[in-house]
Amino acid sequence: MIPASFDYIAPQSLEEAVRALADHGEEAKLLAGGHSLLPLMKLRLANPKLLIDLSRIPGLRGIRHEDDKIIVGALTTHYQIESSELVKEKCPLLSQTAGAIGDVQVRNRGTIGGSLTHADPSADWPAAILALGGELKLSGPKGERRSAPEDFFLAPMTTAIEPTEILTEIRVPVLSQRCGSAYLKMAQQASGFALVAIAVWLRLGRSRLVEEIGIGVTGLGEKPFRAQAVEQFVRGNKLTPKLVEASASQVAEGIEPLEDLHAAAKFRAHLARVYTSRAIQEAAKKIKN
Ligand SMILES: Cc1cc2nc3c(=O)[nH]c(=O)nc-3n(C[C@H](O)[C@H](O)[C@H](O)COP(=O)(O)OP(=O)(O)OC[C@H]3O[C@@H](n4cnc5c(N)ncnc54)[C@H](O)[C@@H]3O)c2cc1C
Repeated sequence: MIPASFDYIAPQSLEEAVRALADHGEEAKLLAGGHSLLPLMKLRLANPKLLIDLSRIPGLRGIRHEDDKIIVGALTTHYQIESSELVKEKCPLLSQTAGAIGDVQVRNRGTIGGSLTHADPSADWPAAILALGGELKLSGPKGERRSAPEDFFLAPMTTAIEPTEILTEIRVPVLSQRCGSAYLKMAQQASGFALVAIAVWLRLGRSRLVEEIGIGVTGLGEKPFRAQAVEQFVRGNKLTPKLVEASASQVAEGIEPLEDLHAAAKFRAHLARVYTSRAIQEAAKKIKN
């Protein structure tokens, strides 16, 4: 399958890319890893007149530690995040999530920024970034702005990014010594996308009191979400198997689960409950004493 013909440019700076995007509007598309965009173009579901390749823009790729934050460039590949020692030490939920994406080829080319802006309702990154309370940095003709993930994902394949904006960075908090995290996914076997996946981090205090917890869910509903009802149920209480079970039963409350040929809505809701319970327990086990 061959895409419709298009022009191609590879800007050398962010300013140049923003200008090109502003000049061409909806006729242009940004190219990152190409693992979601190119299949759409080959199927002619996307027919951009111009591809703006982000790969030559300095500073969009890489991972750094600043104060209490880990900052990931939007063009950083899933594999770079999965294999980063800095990430494993400071925010292991990111490496756990990256390692669950697709296969080696997908992880080698696909980028965190491409995945977040593509906003597939079964993609892995949104769950982790929601759980962590991350922040997305966007650049456009009017300058820079930051977006919370809760405000970013609007609907399947739809985000709050303007057509003239570029996602440049994702910022997440460093998880302290008393924190543990886990990413659990029931994958659709052919693609690796989530039927349901749960990202959890938590911080335990004395007597296993849950001081803080973040839970992100993907695959269950038409957009990824933060499981605030579960978090509220657990926060401030002693983590016991009974509490975990009772809290996990809230995860699908108020959500209309997706239904497709891969999984019925009821099955997805059931998976979400079971995986939430397991992910909380696994995250707690990871805490170093
Ligand atoms: C076989 C296969 C299996 C997969 N399995 C999984 C899986 O298990 N889990 C999962 O989560 N994903 C999976 N994916 C998707 C994969 O993670 C993609 O890499 C990802 O969705 C898109 O990232 P990309 O860098 O390839 O983006 P591209 O395909 O280049 O771009 C995707 C979209 O985002 C826009 N975009 C890209 N970068 C930016 C930016 N910085 N700012 C603004 N807009 C931007 C593009 O214009 C385009 O609209 C799979 C893909 C394939 C082909």
